[in-house]
Amino acid sequence: MSSSYNSLIDHDVSPADAESIGNAIIELLVSERFLLATPSEQCVLNGLGYPPGPRIREIFANHESCVPFWEPNAINGVKVHAERYVNFFAFPQLQFAGCPQCRHRFPDGDGVIDQLYDSVATFVNDDRIEIISCPQCNHSSPSNAWRTEPDIGIAYLGIEFWNWVPFSSPLWTTSIPDLIHDHLGRTMAVSWGKL
Ligand SMILES: [Zn+2]
Repeated sequence: MSSSYNSLIDHDVSPADAESIGNAIIELLVSERFLLATPSEQCVLNGLGYPPGPRIREIFANHESCVPFWEPNAINGVKVHAERYVNFFAFPQLQFAGCPQCRHRFPDGDGVIDQLYDSVATFVNDDRIEIISCPQCNHSSPSNAWRTEPDIGIAYLGIEFWNWVPFSSPLWTTSIPDLIHDHLGRTMAVSWGKL
């Protein structure tokens, strides 16, 4: 079975605050009983993740039409990356990168995309943000200001929801990103990736 995930990315969080914000998001989802409080190794591909909780199936308009991702003994956990976060599994799905100044979109295969890939390595290895110049408008912008579809991160907090129904689906009656925004004041970019 191929696996995919929703990723919520906090582009504004500082490295110092990432862990506490990540913990607060998990506590919120546990308090709503959308997650179980005890992490396990069985529900994610590596490390630890939080399994879906008993109320998750209640926030779909028609849960019979959902893939029942919440069933036990599956890869369906929520994994927090409170560290340099790059959404690597989005790369094969990359459609474009957009200049933050002129909004021009560069398709996959463009030289700008190659620079973006290189900047990811610099971020992960050296914790440094490179500057990328736009061939369209000649403005230079930090690599983490470029907007990609799907969002590739280059941030300090990413939370992956493995094999959950896409957050863009109209089946959700409660929006997890909105819930986080309403309770914690964090704006999470919604992204995804696929193995
Ligand atoms: Zn531009």
